[in-house]
Amino acid sequence: MGTQTITNETRMAAPLPARQAILAELSALVAEALRVPAADLNVNAPFLEMGADSIVLIDLLRKVGARYPVKLSVRQFFEELATLDALATFLAEQKPVAPLPPEPLTAPLPTPHPQRAPLPIAAPPIATEAAGSLERILAQQLQVVSQVISEQLAFLASSDMQTIAEADTTEVAADSAQPAPQPAPPQPAPPQPAPPQPAPIVTPFAKPQITESAATNTLTHTQQHYLHTFIARYTARTPHSKAWVQNYRPILADNRASAGFRPSIKEMLYPLVAERSQGSHLWDIDGNDYVDIAMGFGVHLFGHQPPMVVRALENQLHQGFQLGPQSSLAGQVAQLIHDLTGMERIAFNNSGTEAVMTALRLARTVTGRSKIATFAGSYHGHYDGTLAAPNPQQLDGWAAPMAPGVTHNAVADILVLPAYGDIAMLEILRAHAHELAAVVVEPVQSRRPDLQPVEFLRELRRLTHDLGILLMFDEVITGFRVHPGGAQALFGIQADLVTYGKVVGGGLPIGVVAGKASVLDALDGGMWRFGDASYPPADTTFFAGTFCKHPLTMASAHAVLTFMKEQGAELQATLNRRTAQLAATVNAFFAEEQVPIQVAHFGSLFYFRFKGNMDLFFYHLVEKGLYLWEGRTCFLSTAHSDADLEQIVQAIQNAVFDLQKGGFFTRPPR
Ligand code: PMP
Repeated sequence: MGTQTITNETRMAAPLPARQAILAELSALVAEALRVPAADLNVNAPFLEMGADSIVLIDLLRKVGARYPVKLSVRQFFEELATLDALATFLAEQKPVAPLPPEPLTAPLPTPHPQRAPLPIAAPPIATEAAGSLERILAQQLQVVSQVISEQLAFLASSDMQTIAEADTTEVAADSAQPAPQPAPPQPAPPQPAPPQPAPIVTPFAKPQITESAATNTLTHTQQHYLHTFIARYTARTPHSKAWVQNYRPILADNRASAGFRPSIKEMLYPLVAERSQGSHLWDIDGNDYVDIAMGFGVHLFGHQPPMVVRALENQLHQGFQLGPQSSLAGQVAQLIHDLTGMERIAFNNSGTEAVMTALRLARTVTGRSKIATFAGSYHGHYDGTLAAPNPQQLDGWAAPMAPGVTHNAVADILVLPAYGDIAMLEILRAHAHELAAVVVEPVQSRRPDLQPVEFLRELRRLTHDLGILLMFDEVITGFRVHPGGAQALFGIQADLVTYGKVVGGGLPIGVVAGKASVLDALDGGMWRFGDASYPPADTTFFAGTFCKHPLTMASAHAVLTFMKEQGAELQATLNRRTAQLAATVNAFFAEEQVPIQVAHFGSLFYFRFKGNMDLFFYHLVEKGLYLWEGRTCFLSTAHSDADLEQIVQAIQNAVFDLQKGGFFTRPPR
């Protein structure tokens, strides 16, 4: 195993100051990853029960590996180093091999200098007698960590129970209170519109986590008892799904069947298996009826089996789904996308991931530059070249691989800027302008729908235009959902390059790359005509895909887009209003019951915002007849009736009442 067993003796033998400093640092790292105040962490609770999932553990592994002379494996976090206490003791016992520089844990500040010049950190290093020793290094780190912890606590304390709108202003207050000295910018800063939001970044893979009581892993007798009976109730409702998952686990490798694994909820940890669906409802193989609020991760804008899509597919099935010749509908689908979005040219892929991959290749081709800037908290699919995480050791944004198997080289050309919506990020972009092919944004990040930085996007549009950098909107979720023309139309901002997916395929796999002809021409050489001397004038790159423009997908997309064009923008506007109304109702209830959850929304996307681990809350929603997926992004469709909305509210209320009875939420005095 290569790891010492942690015993009480070794624990006692650990040098105390070093151990405490390590513990403080580790607590800050874990608190940051789990989005809970460090003070709420129980150092004796297993990481998994605190809410860490495998991605959080891998991140922790990387950060620990960067700071301490040890090589750990994730497996050790499941076993002998499963708690903060055990890990701190273990690290304190290690001999330092080389002094490590203190490393700021906060989001990096913009540098006015090009290239990878490190920035001054907030806290000056402390000189101690034990210069060069682990203690000195740790003392330096502790000073930085203490500052980070106090900033995080200030933020969490101020934003915890407020409405989302209020949280925006308090976050600003917390941010402006930061004492960190910053390098003077070379130019006077442009007017500062929407201020930065220092809210913790949500990565697409970070699981939402743990209630305070669960975080301590010290459930009261009432809680233990309730959890036990709830698990029995939940599993009795869904035995066929559970058996199905177990039966196929040996052969079906499925990350969704283990996502969010932790021992306390292990017996309920299985995806529901669907039997059928209709409109806003679906049924599992145990015959349970659910109001679906996952809606195919945002695909099914018109509900399940929308009649126009079913008709188009039946029709196409009779015509065949031949691959090779052109789909007779591809041109019309491109025309409809052009009509609805204003994009000049359109190309088709099979998924959002593929569309993003193609778009980046196009951007690099037409600009002749290699770097791409993205923002922390955005998700752009699972192509290696975008699986990039902010790198705390590269202070001006250069990325680190997000997951094992993604090489440093795969993300070497990605700059992940730490603070989406922060006008200060523009200075970083300016510094890298000479090498940037594109800046890619998810205009409203799906895990932070309340962050709608329109002013920032306008500034970004101006800057990228002036500097000759392509602005790319990844509208895989927002496209056709928030408005027929997506976030571009809603915000009145035109990007150079846009990716779509999900809604536009009507339930069949699709990705769309759209944008200026000058960019899309790199795909086919651009415009030429028969009967004259014209030829494809543009330089091209590689593009392919066996299933691109699949006849069934084209038929489905054609039906969806035709319907959308007929209905006009009021269709999305009405749905957006209904979603806002639902969020307001639910938020009023949460406030009344003093439940630390809020529903944030953008268009018809909504997301439960909370701190800690809310696994049990979500399991209760499922048990009350709502279907939602592990990533917890929720969507309303045009098929959701008033009765469905009422059922959603009821399920949320009943879940809260149950959790109050079980001792997981405190009941306010009546
Ligand atoms: N971009 C964004 C903004 C997304 O939300 C997603 C998927 N949710 C993707 C890209 C990847 O799309 P797909 O899952 O179809 O590959």
